[in-house]
Parts: sequence; structure tokens; C-alpha cells
Amino acid sequence: MEKMKAIVFRGPNDFSLEEVEKPKCNDEEILVKVEACGLCGSDIRTFGSGHNKVTPPFIIGHEGVGIVEESKSKYFKAGERVMINPGITCKKCFYCKKDIESQCENMIVVGTTIPGIYAQYISLPKEAANPTFVHKLPDDIDLDMMPVAEALASVYSTQDNVGVGDGDTVLIIGAGPLGNLHSAMAKARGAKKVIISEMHQNRLDMAKKFDTTDVFVNPSTEDLTKVIMEHTDGRGVDVAITACPVGEVQAEVTHLVRSRGKVLLFGGLPKDNCMVTFDSNLLHYKEIEVIGGFSYSSDCFKAALDYIVKGKVDAKKFVTHKLPLKDVKKGIELVKTGEAIKVILKPWM
Ligand SMILES: [Zn+2]
Ligand SMILES: [Zn+2]
Repeated sequence: MEKMKAIVFRGPNDFSLEEVEKPKCNDEEILVKVEACGLCGSDIRTFGSGHNKVTPPFIIGHEGVGIVEESKSKYFKAGERVMINPGITCKKCFYCKKDIESQCENMIVVGTTIPGIYAQYISLPKEAANPTFVHKLPDDIDLDMMPVAEALASVYSTQDNVGVGDGDTVLIIGAGPLGNLHSAMAKARGAKKVIISEMHQNRLDMAKKFDTTDVFVNPSTEDLTKVIMEHTDGRGVDVAITACPVGEVQAEVTHLVRSRGKVLLFGGLPKDNCMVTFDSNLLHYKEIEVIGGFSYSSDCFKAALDYIVKGKVDAKKFVTHKLPLKDVKKGIELVKTGEAIKVILKPWM
């Protein structure tokens, strides 16, 4: 039996690097040697408190890029560099037929329903091992930045839903990894002005390193409403995006968008604190749309990947730390303290 190294999740706060059986490459499957995997906030939540669809012991991780080691799929050859879309949709359920793939009723999720990327190898089943979900990358591209594409896919897809586009003024609440990606994507889609609000000064200072945001606001020392109105002739922004887990903020931003403006609720709230009170008349009379969003379709994943491959979003800047797989706990600390934007784990480092 051939072995490989992987982070095995055995229960909340119980996970470490172990030797496990190397997966096999069966008919119509591909075996990918993992070059880099992104440490995602959702994985950090699973490591800390588990996940209702993850049964330990299990290998999680879903933001992966690598090189095809072995292929029994007609679509791939050994040696090809590939980015994996972890959300494998069925294309035939009620939602898939309506082109709402993010809500697929039969979704296979790499790192949740099938073993994930925090490992030296991953084998992808035939449902995944095709050009809809596994994307070939150019030979000269830096693989270490590619895991950013997965988060960017959610960002692209949800901005598409609210129609962020040419000439818009966009407010983003929260300068964590996703807030910063929202800023980069808004600019890449043609937004005229991006305003970011973040109450942790260290995060706000870090956001200044990315050149996609125009206005930085710390609402604990500045009046956010005043700043917004100054920049929008007193009307409010075209689109406001919440990328932080605070309910009051979701209600607050409805006051900061213009008439017929859009509010995108991107950041989820804690399960035990997710009730929010809105001024319903404000939404009514200003005809404001409030839209939720967190995920993407296979087309949106491909589109977001193209933004990186074509250099329209500079993903490399977001990768602040590269660590060997065994240092996963250190990576989690770096994310939790806000020191890191994107941590990449390297299974062969
Ligand atoms: Zn992710
Ligand atoms: Zn489906």
C-alpha cells in the first residue's frame, strides 16, 4: 500500500499531519499531485467546530491546484497543471436546470462530501474529472496563487448577481481576505470608486497594500455615513457589500445605498446571532434590493479563474504566507489574528 501525507480531521480541534493511504486512480478518474491548497475561513470553522456534512476521520480542504500524476480520463494527460473547482454540480436537478447551480441538490463537494485537498494527492471521481470542473492552466503560471480563484469565484458570482459594473461606487464592509477580493473584483469589473470600511486598524492598514481601494474608513474613529455621503453627492453608493459577520452592519448599510441601490449580504452571521432588524420602509420607498450570496456556478468559477490567468486580478498580492502542510495550525493563527490575507499550504514543502 502506497502512502501519502495528509491533514486528518478527527473532530473539533483534533487534527494533524498523518500518513494515510495514497488514493488510487480508477477508471475515468484522475490522480492529482497537490502543489498548493488555500486555507479557507470555512475550513478553519470546520477544524474548530466540525461540519454537519463532514464525518471524521476525514481530509478536508477545497482550494486546490496541482499536476495530473495519473489519468484514466480521456480529457487529461499526466503532467498537465490543473485547478480544481470543488463544487461538482449534477447539471440535472431542479436548480441546475434553472441555471442556479450554486444550489444544486446533488452537489459533490471536494473536502466535504469527498476527501479534500490538504494532502499530497487527491483523486477526482469521473463526475469531476472533466473540463467543466478541472481547468488546465498555462505552463508559465505561478501555481501558488491559484487557490485564490476559489474565493474569487464566490466574489465574482455574487457581484454578477447584483450587477457591479462600469462607473459604480461600491462600499465594502470588512477588509478581510474576502473584502479585499471584493475590492479587486469590483475594480476589475469597472467600478469607479471603491470604499472599504474596517474597524480593525491593522486590517485597514494591510488593505492599503492592495491598490484597488480608493477610500479607507475606520468607523470607530470616523463617521462612515458622512464619508459615504461626501463621496456620492449625498445619495449613497450604488452597491454595498457586507463581508463581515456582524448583523447590525447589514441593517446599517441599507441607509448607505442610493435609491434602487443594491445590498449584497456576502458574509454569513454566527448561527446563534443571525436575526437582523431592517427599516422596511426605507427598502420600500427607496426601492432597495437586498440580496444574499456566497457561492458560484461552474461558469462563474471559470470566469473568475480567467480574471487571474489574464492578470485582471493580481492574485499573487493576496498570498501573504506559504507554509508546509504540517504547519496548518500556525496558518490558522495567522488568519485569526488578521496577520495573513491568504495562507497557502504546500504539501511537498
Ligand atoms: Zn474557500
Ligand atoms: Zn444539480
